[in-house]
Amino acid sequence: MEQPVQKGKEPFNTMVFPVGPSCNLNCEYCNYLEKTSLYQDTGSFKMSYELLDEFTRQYIEAQPGPVISFCWQGGEPVLRGLDFFKKAVELQEKYLPSGWQLQNNLQTNATLLDEEWCRF
Ligand code: SF4
Repeated sequence: MEQPVQKGKEPFNTMVFPVGPSCNLNCEYCNYLEKTSLYQDTGSFKMSYELLDEFTRQYIEAQPGPVISFCWQGGEPVLRGLDFFKKAVELQEKYLPSGWQLQNNLQTNATLLDEEWCRF
């Protein structure tokens, strides 16, 4: 049965940084790489699978639907690995109400995209 739009909720988008500001390039004009200094205590910028699961569930639950848009940003988000993004889509499909639609937007410098990525 199709899930109706949930009234009383406003649609919104967030950008997700699965590797924080990490990037495989070092563009002179980049104003984001310097953000690594904001995370000095963590040692790693990788988004965990546990956080991915929790974020995905809460993000979908907070939306009125029927279209949920995920935006992957960086740094270079592809550095997180293809398996991570396959899991992301798996979780999105798990939590998506029946009849709703998913969108995934990826901002990338494209230098790491190979055949497998493109097929995905
Ligand atoms: S590709 Fe983008 S994120 Fe990476 S260094 Fe260049 S401007 Fe910064």
